Amino acid sequence: MQATKPTVGIFGLTGCAGDQLVILNCEDELLSLVDVVDIRDFLMAASGGDEFSTLDIAFVEGAVMTRRDEEKLQRIRRRAKALVAIGTCALQGGVPAMADGLDWPSAVRDVYGPEGDGFDALPARALHECVEVDFSLPGCPIEKHEFLGAVADLLNGNPPQLPTYAVCTECKMRECDCLLVDQGRFCHGPLTRAGCRARCPSYAVPCVGCRGPVPDPNLGSAMDVYTSKGWSPEEVVQRLRTFGPLPTPVPAGEAA
Ligand code: SF4
Ligand code: SF4
Ligand code: SF4
Repeated sequence: MQATKPTVGIFGLTGCAGDQLVILNCEDELLSLVDVVDIRDFLMAASGGDEFSTLDIAFVEGAVMTRRDEEKLQRIRRRAKALVAIGTCALQGGVPAMADGLDWPSAVRDVYGPEGDGFDALPARALHECVEVDFSLPGCPIEKHEFLGAVADLLNGNPPQLPTYAVCTECKMRECDCLLVDQGRFCHGPLTRAGCRARCPSYAVPCVGCRGPVPDPNLGSAMDVYTSKGWSPEEVVQRLRTFGPLPTPVPAGEAA
């Protein structure tokens, strides 16, 4: 008799579907994946999924930006034994969280006109602000190798393994020239979690921090480096908020 496979659901809230696309793009591995898991609910791949059964693992992309998102996330949470936030929108709000601090009703009205008053539109929230999140995979979008590694880890009862060091480490391992120190270009590498193999600096494009911060970012020291290159503290903070809020407050006196 065939053993029961762990059940998986893959979902999207408000986002660009890029993380789900990365999963669909695992073309060489998809057959092996469906050999070991039973993908029950993945609307982007197939309609008519099972919307009600218990899931061993739910992967959820996107930020919570509507009441519908909130309700959907709560339904997923009730079904899932393990909930994994995938992508920076789900982890920390992502690019939409750049609007944090705006007068939200006015902003919606500015964009959509008076009809905006009735829209189901909320400021971006990360999943963990609404429900308990068990694990996270960063990136905008996520990395294919990290997704496949996370599935393997979870099936073996282990938490997904992520690098705890910064993009700069991978950049040095690839022997790239430093765009920040050598060329004075704003690069988020020192504060950003590695795992993308320093993709952008390896093409001479500065990192914009799409994978979110390392677990213990040294904001004070990074601020010293950035300001020594000529950026004002306000500009540094603005740039560092590209993919969501700062991980911790910048020490007093350094952002003011
Ligand atoms: S994290 Fe990036 S890829 Fe994922 S939903 Fe948000 S914008 Fe799209
Ligand atoms: S280019 Fe960016 S990621 Fe690479 S070492 Fe310099 S600051 Fe770090
Ligand atoms: S280098 Fe930076 S911006 Fe580019 S993929 Fe990596 S984390 Fe994202």
